[in-house]
Amino acid sequence: MDYAGRRERLWQSARERGLEGFLVVNVERSDRPNLRYLTGFTGSFGVLLVGEKNLFATDSRYTEQAGKEVAGLPVEEVKGRWLPWLGERLRALGLKQVGIGAHRTSVHVFQELSRLASPVELVPQAGLVEELRRIKSPAEVERIAAAAELTDAGLRWALGELRPGRTEREVALDLEIWYRQSGAEGVAFELIVASGPGSAMPHYRPGNRRIAQGDVVLFDVGVQVDGYCSDLTRVVAVGEPGREVRDVYTLVLGANRAGLEAVRGGKPAREVDGAARDAIARGGHGDRFGHGLGHGVGLEVHEAPTVGPASEDTLAPGNVITIEPGVYLPGKFGVRIEDLVVVTETGCRVLSRFPKDELLVR
Ligand code: ZN
Ligand code: ZN
Repeated sequence: MDYAGRRERLWQSARERGLEGFLVVNVERSDRPNLRYLTGFTGSFGVLLVGEKNLFATDSRYTEQAGKEVAGLPVEEVKGRWLPWLGERLRALGLKQVGIGAHRTSVHVFQELSRLASPVELVPQAGLVEELRRIKSPAEVERIAAAAELTDAGLRWALGELRPGRTEREVALDLEIWYRQSGAEGVAFELIVASGPGSAMPHYRPGNRRIAQGDVVLFDVGVQVDGYCSDLTRVVAVGEPGREVRDVYTLVLGANRAGLEAVRGGKPAREVDGAARDAIARGGHGDRFGHGLGHGVGLEVHEAPTVGPASEDTLAPGNVITIEPGVYLPGKFGVRIEDLVVVTETGCRVLSRFPKDELLVR
C-alpha cells in the first residue's frame, strides 16, 4: 500500500483549501479507518499531522507495533496526557491553520485541542480523507475481492449446515467462527441471519428464533481481510416456498440486475438507484423498498459514495459499491439480493460470485 502517496495527496488537497496541514486524531478507535488508510497503523490510539512536516505519535502501548506498521514516518511517543502534549507540539511547529476531520473528531477533542494549541487554528473539514478513499487502487480492490471470495465460501458452508430447529444466533455465531478460522481478520459487521418475519426487517439482529420449515432466511454477511471489508446478501427458502416468495424473489432479482446494468463510471449514483427502484415500482412493491440501493465499501463497510435516491455522488472507476435492492413485507418475509462491485469506465466487475439466478431452496 502506497501510504506515502496517500499522505501526499491529502497534503495536496489540504493546501488547495489554504491549510498548512491536516490532523487525524484516533482516540479509542474514533478514526481508525482514516489513520490506517494514511499510515497502516491499526492501534486504538494515534495522531497524524500531514503537512510540510509530518508527525505521527502514539503512546507507549503501541510504540513497538507502530514501528513495524508505520513505514516512512518517525514514530513519536506521547509523554503524559496526550492533549496537552499535542497542543504543545502543534504550537512548536508554528502553523496558522490546520484542518481536522469533522466527521470523526469529538467536540471535546476539538474544543480542548483548539484551546491548547492556540494560536494554531483548527479548521473542521468534512470528508477530506474520505474523498481520497473513494477510488480504490488495484491493491485495495484485490483485498476487497479476497474478502468477497471468503464471504461467498462461508455462506456456502453455512447453507450446507442449515437445518430447521437451529436458532438464528447459533447460525450466525457458527458462521463467524468459520470466517475467523478461515483467515478473516474479523467480521465486517454483526452478521445478519434473519428468519421468517425477521427477514422483513432490513437491519435485523439475529435472535433466539428457531428456523422453521417454510421460512425465508436472509443472510447479510461480510468479513474483513487485511483491513478491507466485503458485504453480501442472499436469501434461502427452507422447504418449498409459496408463490408470493417466488414472485418477490424474481422481482428483486430483476431490480438487482437493472441496478448492475446501470452502473458505470461517470454516472450519477441516484440514476443507478432509480434503475433498480423503477423495476420494483413496476412490480407493484415501490413502497416496500425503503432504503438506498447501495453504499461504498472499503476499510469501512459503509463509506462513500452513497447510492440512493438523494445521493449527489457521481460514480467513478475504482469505486467499490454494493447493489442491494430489497422488498420487505412486514409480518411475512423480506428478500434482498446484494452484490459487491467495482465500478469501471464501461460498467462494473461483480466481486460477489455466490449464485443468485434461482431462489435457493433447502
Ligand atoms: Zn449487507
Ligand atoms: Zn450493504
